[in-house]
Amino acid sequence: MTARKIFVTTALPYANGNFHIGHIMEYIQADTWVRAQRMQGSAVDFVGADDAHGAPIMIAAEKAGKTPQQFVADIAAGRKQYLDGFHIAFDNWSNTDSPENHELSRQIYLDLKKAGFIETRTIEQFFDPEKNMFLPDRFIKGECPRCHAKDQYGDNCEVCGAVYAPTELIHPFSALSGAKPVLKTSEHFFFKLSDPRAVEFLTEWTQDGKHVQPEVAAKIKEWFGVRTNPDGSTSEGLDDWDISRDAPYFGIEIPDAPGKYFYVWLDAPVGYLASLKNLLNQRGEDFDAYMADPRLEQYHFIGKDIITFHTLFWPAMLKFSGRKTPTRICVHGFMTVNNGEKMSKSRGTGLDPLKYLSLGMNPEWLRYYLGAKLNGRNEDIDFNPEDFMLRVNSDLIGKYVNIASRAAGFIAKRFGGRLGAVSEDGQALLAQLREAKDAIVAAYEARDTARAAREIMLLCDRVNAYVDANKPWELAKKEGMEARLQDVCSTCIEAFRILTIYLRPILPGVAAEVANFLIVPPESFADVGQPLGKDHQIGEYQHLMQRVDPKQLEALFEPPAAPVAEAVKPGGEEIAETISIDDFAKIDLRIARIVECKPVEGSTKLLQLTLDVGEGKTRNVFSGIASMYQPEQLQGKLTVMVANLAPRKMKFGISEGMVLAASHADEKAQPGIYVLEPFPGAAPGMKIH
Ligand SMILES: [Zn+2]
Repeated sequence: MTARKIFVTTALPYANGNFHIGHIMEYIQADTWVRAQRMQGSAVDFVGADDAHGAPIMIAAEKAGKTPQQFVADIAAGRKQYLDGFHIAFDNWSNTDSPENHELSRQIYLDLKKAGFIETRTIEQFFDPEKNMFLPDRFIKGECPRCHAKDQYGDNCEVCGAVYAPTELIHPFSALSGAKPVLKTSEHFFFKLSDPRAVEFLTEWTQDGKHVQPEVAAKIKEWFGVRTNPDGSTSEGLDDWDISRDAPYFGIEIPDAPGKYFYVWLDAPVGYLASLKNLLNQRGEDFDAYMADPRLEQYHFIGKDIITFHTLFWPAMLKFSGRKTPTRICVHGFMTVNNGEKMSKSRGTGLDPLKYLSLGMNPEWLRYYLGAKLNGRNEDIDFNPEDFMLRVNSDLIGKYVNIASRAAGFIAKRFGGRLGAVSEDGQALLAQLREAKDAIVAAYEARDTARAAREIMLLCDRVNAYVDANKPWELAKKEGMEARLQDVCSTCIEAFRILTIYLRPILPGVAAEVANFLIVPPESFADVGQPLGKDHQIGEYQHLMQRVDPKQLEALFEPPAAPVAEAVKPGGEEIAETISIDDFAKIDLRIARIVECKPVEGSTKLLQLTLDVGEGKTRNVFSGIASMYQPEQLQGKLTVMVANLAPRKMKFGISEGMVLAASHADEKAQPGIYVLEPFPGAAPGMKIH
């Protein structure tokens, strides 16, 4: 059988911030798979890159006073400590502003154009009248037109995964200025996904059971069906994809279209190929020949938030530009911490990977923990500190590492480090361990590392049962049992070697130390059948792994320490950031008369106020002042309210404004909330300047 040849990538991280734990999880998943492939003799090239383009980076770079290129280079310089720290071994790390990516992106576009898949259209697009620019998708926010989640970006909903045009958002606003965007026309370039050829290809490609997990295929299928548009009309099939953006934009200029750039999501996946090409250039290999090899398989590991880009746009771009399409898209879910907030590409929180490393926590604890949870399906996983400690301390150390520490001492002290002959019962145990190979390799292949870890721990249980039955520590005290002691301990050492090979994709660092200790060459899965044998000399055993200390986990989730210099805090909190008079003018404060004041049934905090602001009608406002005032105390009084606050739906009804009241930041230390009252002479409706 010819060895497999595989090209593997992880999603390209956006180069506007450091890695968060969600990135590290994906890289560990892919790295483990790559290592398992290599242990089966596959030739694998594993590449990553920074996603460098787009308006958010352009704007962040401008803020930082850097060119976008410098900004991206500075972010890229910080990547290595994470990757090395967690034993994540990419063969190459490039970025999407590379010459290879400019060239490949243009070429793919030109090929798509030649095939009739590109079309230009004049569209209306959101323009920020205050900032005087077309608004990038990520700087328009609003309500998702499909699932109605609030506060979603202009291109893609993080809650339901929908991809849409910014103009489809409900209640859009500019995230740059807060202004309501206006529509302006501009000529845009479209990739014609609605073309029957694309629909036919993608229906087959996503639903044939070969390229995506079944749960992912089912989700994609929904996107091909009939759906209702925000304007009430219905569409079927796929929408064309807007692939251009207007200057100013940091990206790749579209050939023969000055001032027009590829939308960042057009050239980002091309970055996979560009990073590979960059690697091949370094090795002096030909990219086209490499890609033309019919054996070549192409695997992309991604998170569930970018399924659309990788299962519709990307395969269609490749197919209709006459290129090889991906073999498989491997989708994983999000990672949560303590059932807490999800970790997505844009909003990382919770478990800081660098802090994890700086606390001296073993990276392979995390690799093992994630490996034991990831099952190859598109499911979320949760990091639970207690579970983490249990799996590492009880399974990894208690079951696996323990086998070596129980046997190695006797071999060193009593037999000068030499292994003895293994008798029949030991051989039977080892045969069971070797028989598990195919099942474990298959689990790795399916990215079901949870199953692989489970199988391996069951084997560890068998070895520990053998140790408990033979009690080497008792054999060591009995006369005439020397040979049996060497036999039992040699069986354990051989068993430990086999188990280490099985765990090697997950624990590359430990496996390297074990190889040193056992004095064996680098191992493949096939090596489980090559026993060390009688008289093999092993090295000195060094303890392989510490237990997790609960104090480390406490420190990991402790919020960062407050700055040393104590800030001045009148009323218990610092004075807020300076604002301009224009900012203040946005808040419309008016004198209001409290016409009526009532308790709110079911709430001990709120009072319901009916306010007259001189508008010829009254307003309903809920205020959290019930702890301080009886309703009759306030009735008839004047106060100050925010009159232009957006109405807010509360549990007890709509609140149409806010009454001003003062309180100390530390409610417990200094309780009390005090409503403002103007000097005599003020009248309802008067504006506060
Ligand atoms: Zn949604």
